[in-house]
Amino acid sequence: MAFCPLPLGSIRPLGWLQRQLRIQADGLTGHLDEFWPDVADSQWFGGKAEGWERAPYWLDGVIPLAFLLDDDALKEKVRRRVTQIVAAQRPDGWYGPYPADDRARTYDMWSILLANKALVQYHDAVGDAGVLAAVTRNLRAVLDVLDRTPLFRWGAFRWFEGLVPVYYAYQCTGEPWLLELARKLHEQGFDYQAFYACDDVTSPTPRRGRWTWEKHVVNTGMAIKSGPLAWRLTRRDADREFAARMLAILDRYHGQATGMFSGDECLAGRSPTQGTELCAVVEAMYSLELAAAITGSVALADRLERIAFNALPATFAPDMWSHQYDQQVNQAQCTVNPDHMWTTNGPDANIFGLEPNFGCCTANMHQGWPKFAAHLWMRTADEGLAVVAYAPSEARLTVKGQPVRATLETDYPFRETMRITVSVPQPVRFPLLVRVPAWADGATVQVDGGGPQSLQPGTFHRLEREWAGDVVVALRLPMRVSARRRYNQALAIERGPLVYSLKVGEEWKRINADKPHRELPHGDFEVRPTTAWNYALLADESDPSRSIRFEDRPVGAQPFSPAGAGVVGLVQGRRLPNWKLEHGWAGEIAPEPAASSEPLEDLTLIPYGCTNLRVTEFPRLKT
Ligand SMILES: [Zn+2]
Repeated sequence: MAFCPLPLGSIRPLGWLQRQLRIQADGLTGHLDEFWPDVADSQWFGGKAEGWERAPYWLDGVIPLAFLLDDDALKEKVRRRVTQIVAAQRPDGWYGPYPADDRARTYDMWSILLANKALVQYHDAVGDAGVLAAVTRNLRAVLDVLDRTPLFRWGAFRWFEGLVPVYYAYQCTGEPWLLELARKLHEQGFDYQAFYACDDVTSPTPRRGRWTWEKHVVNTGMAIKSGPLAWRLTRRDADREFAARMLAILDRYHGQATGMFSGDECLAGRSPTQGTELCAVVEAMYSLELAAAITGSVALADRLERIAFNALPATFAPDMWSHQYDQQVNQAQCTVNPDHMWTTNGPDANIFGLEPNFGCCTANMHQGWPKFAAHLWMRTADEGLAVVAYAPSEARLTVKGQPVRATLETDYPFRETMRITVSVPQPVRFPLLVRVPAWADGATVQVDGGGPQSLQPGTFHRLEREWAGDVVVALRLPMRVSARRRYNQALAIERGPLVYSLKVGEEWKRINADKPHRELPHGDFEVRPTTAWNYALLADESDPSRSIRFEDRPVGAQPFSPAGAGVVGLVQGRRLPNWKLEHGWAGEIAPEPAASSEPLEDLTLIPYGCTNLRVTEFPRLKT
């Protein structure tokens, strides 16, 4: 592996990232177990409600959140729930919800793999030997049962998720049968590489089409890491490179401006009105965190930031009490819409609520920000430190027996400068690797007040030296605006890791107030526009900096909200009266440049992640 993630708790969020994680802990993540039956009364915790993926999903996100924030109340909540699972483990190694007679009633192995993935995070943070012993006992039971009942359904399509706890337990215990289990999961699991070599993956699922396992968008987001994780067993180059190959195919046939791909709920083509499920967003991020660690690829880390700073925050209300199931790149309104154009999702999939469409995202959304924060810094193979993704944070680790603290102060991605301070009590030599994104032409670094050195975009720049006292590394990643042609030749505006969208006035209307568990603050809401959204953009495509001016604003208390946007883009455009809602959504954009006799208006663009309603792919205006 190129990089090794630091133990959970080694990284602490600062600045806007700290505020964002606090918002999350004060929102649904910190309270879901208090009122939502599928977690509060889960069979995993000895209750009567759901006994499959939902409680483990919640733990998979709330565990890293508790330790990143070092929040005592949240850590105690997590400890109690983990203890309940471990205490209910049976002598045969199975956890509470697993059927006593698994010959008469088979159990889909997916939730078992998921629960172990959550539990090893707890062990990583706390070092509780009882939890590691429980995971190891359970994995032994999994190994034994797979000969009689091979992986099926979700377990077969998510087999590689099991490699995460299996590798973790192997690193802790060295038990050779764990590698046998890893090979068995690999053998019995679905072959994504074969599927991505066929034409089927290239075609969008039709409206109200057929739901399939292999084009399921959450399975797709998870599978990005399948090849790199398998590579640790096989050492085949094709496995290591599969994440990049898979993303290239997804970009070409289903890619969205956010770096994600559509899937509502199966892969749905490149149109900006198709949906992308929240579960797929957080799973793609986690996949990229692991795939970037294994491969050391700058491109995968660039992609991680693009999804984290755009698709992730956009699909939550700014207070993180409500979320969408499906977000759209061009999202003119969010209403219960029976005339919708999804492939297989339901009419309420894009409203903001407690459990729109289906409750998987309600359970699984929690891992997005915390796992991102936990993977910002990683250890290199040669005892150094790498900054894999950028956000305000601090990392503490031991290098050659010496304590090292590295602090990153920045308002990135809303600003292009970063100040890294490396602090050591005793001089110690090690490399610090800083990622230079592929878009960062003209990037520079200054070390300890020295002159600026220019950096090569698309590389990790290696600063190897003897660090002594406090050394400041000042990094500048210039963000140049670009106008990119997308679906039907529409234009999307990008600058650095951020995609920009039209700021649209919005009216939130509470619905479903009489439905169970919708007491505020966890209600359901429709959102409608109060200002026009149907603009064509006046942009000089060869040099968009001539038509769009960016201005910094203070990064808000809610960093990802329309009012809290830390940067805005000022541009001009004309309304297109014929561009209207169709099927309740922004109509399709014609591939030809738009003509309009409407007056030229000043428009404000804000980061995609700050919007709730938006237009991101714009018709080009004929001048
Ligand atoms: Zn979901």
